[in-house]
Amino acid sequence: MRALCKVRSEPGLAMRDLPVPAIGPTDVLIRVEKAGICGTDYHIYSWDHWAQARVHPPLVVGHEFMGHVEKIGEAVRAVRVGDRVSAEGHIPDLTCLLCRTGQAHICERLKIIGIDRDGAFAEYIAMPEYNVWPLDSAIPDEFAAVFDPLGNAVHTVMAAGVSTRSVVITGVGSIGLMAIPVARAAGAALVFALDVNPAKLELAQRLGADRTFLASQPGLVEEVRALTNGDGVDVLLEMSGSAAAIDEGLQMVRNGGTAALLGIPGDSVNLNLAERIIFKGLTVLGVNGRLMFETWYQTQALVKSGRVDLRPIITHVLPVAEYERAFALLHSGEAAKIVFDLSSLT
Ligand SMILES: [Zn+2]
Ligand SMILES: [Zn+2]
Repeated sequence: MRALCKVRSEPGLAMRDLPVPAIGPTDVLIRVEKAGICGTDYHIYSWDHWAQARVHPPLVVGHEFMGHVEKIGEAVRAVRVGDRVSAEGHIPDLTCLLCRTGQAHICERLKIIGIDRDGAFAEYIAMPEYNVWPLDSAIPDEFAAVFDPLGNAVHTVMAAGVSTRSVVITGVGSIGLMAIPVARAAGAALVFALDVNPAKLELAQRLGADRTFLASQPGLVEEVRALTNGDGVDVLLEMSGSAAAIDEGLQMVRNGGTAALLGIPGDSVNLNLAERIIFKGLTVLGVNGRLMFETWYQTQALVKSGRVDLRPIITHVLPVAEYERAFALLHSGEAAKIVFDLSSLT
């Protein structure tokens, strides 16, 4: 099969011919049709410090996808050949304390496809039956391919609890953008978005943000307070991982508010903990992955309701062979979400 791989410990990716993955008795072989490109894939492509420390080539990249089931292992019970599916790309061991207490998404022995084991930018991928998510026929292929990042947005919004509340989203990359219609659908009263990229802020406005702000402008915290009765917002959804945005976002939250952190800083973050969190009595939540599988049910319900429309966010669908162009579009900020079409491989 053809696959987009990290071949060596150096920048770049390459298309390679590989054997179709073998499956065990509880595994499912999926023919991949559409797959989303994530910021993580860009880190692996550009081979930054995180990627050098974490990824061991050779590796098939990609972790957000949809396709059809081609083959099942002899012990597979619920999934059938021909099913249209996506899959949770975080593979838990299912035996540890966390897995056994309903928190498999933070299993310490989690293996992630496209990072720790072969991923989805290929004609075929093998997945444990446990991880396979059967798709409702009402979900379009492009949306199904990005249930992973959309699930990150849903998990963050639901963890924070936004119903009737004012919300600021710091960082409107693709997940921050997705969080706007999700927060709206979950009943947020006011949604503000903050970013360094004016084009992303325009998109945020189209997606239903009430107000957008260019980050680090003087007087911004006071402006957000003025728009929220002098109090500050009830909820921060931190999607940037930028130390400056984390600091600015925490200043915008009212005393007693909630901050849900999803964005991953590249380095340690220096924060005035006393002023930003302790004296304010904030509730701070770290958010990782998606709840298995509560978040998937919520995500499906939101998309099916028609209230979470990803069409403005998925700016490009490209054949996987055009991966160089895709990464250039992401790097320049011209693209929001790009989905690869892998059906062109077969
Ligand atoms: Zn991702
Ligand atoms: Zn576990």
